Amino acid sequence: MQYENYIGGRWTGRNFTTNVNPSDTNDEIGMYASADADDTNSAIESAVAAQSIWRAYPPSERISVLRNIGNALLARKDELGAALSREEGKPVREGIAEAGRAGNTFHYYASAIEHAQGETYSSALPKTLIQTRRNPVGTVGIITPWNFPLAIPAWKIAPALAYGNTVVFKPAELVPSSAWALTKIISEAGLPDGVFNMVMGSGSVVGKAITTSSRLNAVTFTGSSFVGAEIAADCISHGAKRIQAEMGGKNSLVVLDDADLTIAVEAIIDGAFKSTGQRCTATSRVISTPQMYPRLVEQLSARIPTLKVGDALDPSTDIGPLASQQQLNQVRKYVELGVSEGAELIAGGHEIRSASPGFYFEPTLFAGGHSQMRINQEEIFGPVVCLIEAPDVDSAIALANDTQYGLAAGIITDSQRSIERFLDSADAGMLHVNRSTANTELHVPFGGNKSSSYGPREQGTAARDFFTSTSTIYSTTGTD
Ligand code: ADP
Repeated sequence: MQYENYIGGRWTGRNFTTNVNPSDTNDEIGMYASADADDTNSAIESAVAAQSIWRAYPPSERISVLRNIGNALLARKDELGAALSREEGKPVREGIAEAGRAGNTFHYYASAIEHAQGETYSSALPKTLIQTRRNPVGTVGIITPWNFPLAIPAWKIAPALAYGNTVVFKPAELVPSSAWALTKIISEAGLPDGVFNMVMGSGSVVGKAITTSSRLNAVTFTGSSFVGAEIAADCISHGAKRIQAEMGGKNSLVVLDDADLTIAVEAIIDGAFKSTGQRCTATSRVISTPQMYPRLVEQLSARIPTLKVGDALDPSTDIGPLASQQQLNQVRKYVELGVSEGAELIAGGHEIRSASPGFYFEPTLFAGGHSQMRINQEEIFGPVVCLIEAPDVDSAIALANDTQYGLAAGIITDSQRSIERFLDSADAGMLHVNRSTANTELHVPFGGNKSSSYGPREQGTAARDFFTSTSTIYSTTGTD
């Protein structure tokens, strides 16, 4: 079946390409349109034309549209989650949880705009009142990655629409089916034509047309640091658009000698291998003090081989395939690099050949490495975790900061003093105590430091800063 783009309230498309299931590449999911620059510009013009209409919609009507989208996502979360897993490769229970989260995100922003959006201040002048008012930024380009095909689009689209912006959404090339399903739901929710537009296609054509358009007011992007830097430069040089970029991570989990070993092992398994390690918040560096280090090696090398790697739609699967051949090649390359750099391969490290052709790779543990090895500095984006030994708490925390990234970091310890030291000095946007570095909630700020993020935080009340601009209003009354 052929699936089209959604532009100005109409389905339209050409240049269809086939999307396949990474658990079984013989399984063809559908044929999806690839937009060109003209299609993208039509989507942008539709969104610009609809801006004044949507901006004037009373919040109560915006709320009702958002609730319709949230309700549809929640009612269909099992089916949407399974389709997501078939397309992206994460185990089906994770796919269903993600579809549910997407639904809850639309409900969260429906509730968020019920609250007052401005503030009132006193003035130094007589009979004068100062107020702030939040206005929509205008028309927003949304560029998303493939690793959370419903949740990331939802956490950008929902606040964009809630705060009165119109949208041009460009999903990642690998996950058009999830984007199309979400778009279909949005198209049936009661929005005026042109408020929401979806254009599938490549980053170099569709993405570039968005970031270089001077008709848009803002762009929000999640993806790699390399692309993020190019996008930020394009946005600034073409119309000085507001930009929000969520990029890579190389997240450290510090495990101290006094840690609960079971909590530590489960946090590492969850953080490193859930979603096949393809999360920007994945735990990829475990930094441990000397007594805990050998215990972690022993426990993890026993636990990792028990994890079942398999078809994403098999409910007994713990770890699905990588999302694409390119991802598989990248993981294989980094494992070879780790061995050549002198790290010790403790578990996994190999591609898995299964009955159905898919991009399967063993969950992999390295030990004996040091922080400056490339496998401990570069984002692998796969099921690979490295153990690094540190002599004491302070050096462990210093090593946790020893990367160009600063998205998430965690500590496992029973010591309140060590927790305080970690919270004071860990250089990351999201800090976790006695849990994995991943797993975030939708109502609180999401984002990082250093090369991980650029621009305001996402999610929760933080999203309002990006999707609105503030006017400050001075009113003097009774000047007689
Ligand atoms: P990932 O590997 O997670 O897909 P990328 O950074 O390659 O990360 O891509 C994230 C998103 O950015 C995708 O939707 C992709 O198509 C888009 N993209 C890639 N290159 C560009 C570009 N030069 N300009 C705009 N968007 C791009």
